[in-house]
Amino acid sequence: MDFQPLVETFGKMEETSSRLALTDHLVALLKETPADLIDKVTYLIQGKLYPDYEGIEMGLAERMALRAIASSSSRSMSEVEAIYRKKGDIGDAAREAMESKGQSTLFSEQMTVERVYCTFDKIAKTTGPGSQETKLRLVASLLNDSTPDEGRYIMKFVMGALRLGIADYTVLDALAIAFTGDKANRKVLENAYNVSSDLGTVAKLLATKGLAAVKAVQITLFKPIRPMLAERVSTAEEAMERMDSRAAIEYKLDGERVQIHKGRDRVELFSRRLEKITDHYPDVSKAAMSLACKEAIMEGEVVAVNLQTGEYLPFQQLMHRRRKHGIEEAMENYPVVINLFDILYLDGKSRTELPYEERRKLLEKTVKGAKDNGIMLKIVPQVVATEPAEIDRFMASAIENGCEGVMVKMPSSTYRAGAREYLWVKLKREYRTELADTLDLVIVGALHGRGRRVGKYGALLLAAYDPKEDIFRSVTKVGTGFTDIHLDQFYRELEKHVIHQKHARVDTGMSMEVWFEPVIVIEVIASEITLSPSHMAAMDAIKEGYGLALRFPKFTGKIRDDKEPEGATTTDEIVTMYRRQLKIHSEAAKSKEQEKKKKESEEGEE
Ligand code: ATP
Repeated sequence: MDFQPLVETFGKMEETSSRLALTDHLVALLKETPADLIDKVTYLIQGKLYPDYEGIEMGLAERMALRAIASSSSRSMSEVEAIYRKKGDIGDAAREAMESKGQSTLFSEQMTVERVYCTFDKIAKTTGPGSQETKLRLVASLLNDSTPDEGRYIMKFVMGALRLGIADYTVLDALAIAFTGDKANRKVLENAYNVSSDLGTVAKLLATKGLAAVKAVQITLFKPIRPMLAERVSTAEEAMERMDSRAAIEYKLDGERVQIHKGRDRVELFSRRLEKITDHYPDVSKAAMSLACKEAIMEGEVVAVNLQTGEYLPFQQLMHRRRKHGIEEAMENYPVVINLFDILYLDGKSRTELPYEERRKLLEKTVKGAKDNGIMLKIVPQVVATEPAEIDRFMASAIENGCEGVMVKMPSSTYRAGAREYLWVKLKREYRTELADTLDLVIVGALHGRGRRVGKYGALLLAAYDPKEDIFRSVTKVGTGFTDIHLDQFYRELEKHVIHQKHARVDTGMSMEVWFEPVIVIEVIASEITLSPSHMAAMDAIKEGYGLALRFPKFTGKIRDDKEPEGATTTDEIVTMYRRQLKIHSEAAKSKEQEKKKKESEEGEE
């Protein structure tokens, strides 16, 4: 298949933000794609080569990418750098460098999807010493035979900058329409995607074997399932209202969500983002091997503990487990336990269709038989409640035990992979004093540190995600809550993402001394949300000419590297939080007013 139809479709997609138009373009492209290439084309339009859980990345440094452009457009490195500075986008820079060289008709052979994919694959799989040079040569070889437009997308893809603004559900719609003629079939595809996390394979199955084969897709060991997520609520009453007459309440532990896949002779662990994290927790894998079953998929929260006291330790302790070397030592110094809260598969059978209550019983039974003796494998504490007051009591005990709050779950609910609904709700402790929730925001800029912080960053500019435009809009500048260790760590991490000007996907009215690629997500808490003329999050949503900003923000100590930037708190969520805060304030003012009147009338009667 020629690469050209992809380039043309990508071009059209970049010009529209209408979901209908995006879907139409995708449908046309998918119809044109031979069935045996459907998986590859599906990955390419998502800017990947494989499903995320494979963890395969191109790994080409920006400098090498610029060198590849220079070599294939016969320009000097400084010329290419100047073009890049002017354009601010690697793809646009490649096109301009190639265009002015007249590289539009001289290429020798048609670029094909097979060749592009195969070369990308080689780039991604080249590792070890000298790999950057090899990667560079591979990219340059593609550019040499490309038109400037093709080169533009090749470079965008290689550098992870291909942003077509298509969400997974748009691809699912397009697949349903292209291969079944009926958008309603998307549900079937979505179910298959939710249990396999692999859109390419679902697409290929549909194109080659039809809808019935997609319907038959089952949970498979070692393929992560998209996690069920929770909605947030602010009070125990609200949580109870969302349930039937009863609610299962569990501790909400402050650790890392892990999906355990236990096979007959090995265990794999996946993060909330479905990345393989088996290497971080060999001790958890070992404990999982001791389960009295042949195969199982379970979910739980890994938490750092003080083995002497049994006390849970802060989330940051888990960071010590994210290392390639010295994991044995880290296991010794930073012990963890896993608190299981769900079972999705057991000995050849999916269990997601069982109601929560039955899954919980099955979980208890399965863990009881483990040889681990409950040292590492624990089940998350739980009670069943019928009154909000019981939730409040359990919440108090959760907080006393070092938890973030509680999760309230509908006892009759099945496990809804990939869904965020009110079947699970989260109630965090912060709501009493500050904003109802923490926010996960992306670092997009910084000011240099002064005084004690010279040589580090003094304040970080943070942004929320606007999924409609696929842009990060600034919402606050944060300078408190950092320890010296954080400051050092941030400096080292952020240095890798420094860019020479504000990133094209960042929108802010603030001027900064340093700009970053929007990559790192951190968690902050704040006292309230206010209107702001210089922050762009939710601009005009509440008041013309004003965005929303956080007041007195503080870093909580959590770097959310389990979240991708697009998983950050959205600008719409901030609007909701703002409205909720107004409501709480006005209710508080009202009750104060009533109290005052009551007092006045009592005094009058006296
Ligand atoms: P979300 O996952 O809802 O987008 P998030 O990643 O910020 O947001 P939280 O708001 O912290 O997560 O709440 C959900 C997370 O809580 C789960 O993904 C899981 O890691 C954690 N968690 C802790 N205890 C439990 C529990 N008992 N049941 C389910 N999740 C739990």
